[in-house]
Amino acid sequence: MPTHQLHTLHERSFEHCRFVYPVLSRRSRGISVGVNLNPDKVCNFDCIYCQVDRTTQSETQFVELDALVAELREVLQVVASGEIYETSKFRDTPQELRRLNDIAFSGDGEPTTYRNFDTIIETCAALKRELGLDHVKMVLITNASMFHRPHVQRGLTILDENNGEIWAKLDAGTAEYFKLIDRTPISFAQILENITAAARVRPLVIQSLFMRVAGEGPSPAELAAFCDRLQEIVVAGGKLSLVQVYTVARRPAEGFVAPLSDAEVDAIAQMVRERTGVPAAPFYGNTGYQTDLTPPE
Ligand code: SF4
Repeated sequence: MPTHQLHTLHERSFEHCRFVYPVLSRRSRGISVGVNLNPDKVCNFDCIYCQVDRTTQSETQFVELDALVAELREVLQVVASGEIYETSKFRDTPQELRRLNDIAFSGDGEPTTYRNFDTIIETCAALKRELGLDHVKMVLITNASMFHRPHVQRGLTILDENNGEIWAKLDAGTAEYFKLIDRTPISFAQILENITAAARVRPLVIQSLFMRVAGEGPSPAELAAFCDRLQEIVVAGGKLSLVQVYTVARRPAEGFVAPLSDAEVDAIAQMVRERTGVPAAPFYGNTGYQTDLTPPE
């Protein structure tokens, strides 16, 4: 087959996908295959920094399990075989990043709100085993709001058995700041309880996003409280393998939200390390988009 036809074929092979999307992730040093369990873009949080575009409605409203699994099979095979690097989108992938790192459950909302969460995790894990991809991680990117539900706990156990990692969001140290940033009726206490209980069973990665809100970064007292909450989780027997300290990198939901500087992100990561003893990694922002507060020069 002429090369250009091969490209067309493969590009079409994941462009039609509605639930599964491969991305090159420099952070994970390879390809991450995303699975979107919230095609309707509904979330039980309404974070002021959310990057999901909710101004337009998605054509796909419901997860179709068979279609999702067929897409995942196709994309995993195209990535694992290396054929993906023949497509125009992935042709420039550097040699050292040409590896399949993980299947990531994230997407356009909170993945654990999907009511068949345990079934879908089990089905995807079975497919991963069938394809001989035991070394490939399964990463759940979550706001931790549903960990107390039995079907979510079953899903987490299946992840544990299949090279899983749980990345749980914690953006605040106080209930007031949590309400300001994450805008949800779910209580901060519930989130802390859920994270603590889950971290007692397996190590969790904490993902924390800090930003400037109407020009103001998080106060020193808020950051101290954040470290205290992490410390409390550890003291209660929770295992935290890493705290990822982020700031805004793409256009957020609200125009009054702007990124912290690299130095401010570094300082928070350093504070976490010093005050909690938990490893922390900084991820920097991007002012390359226009916000209401930082107009382009
Ligand atoms: S939890 Fe995630 S998807 Fe939901 S609003 Fe917050 S950032 Fe957006």
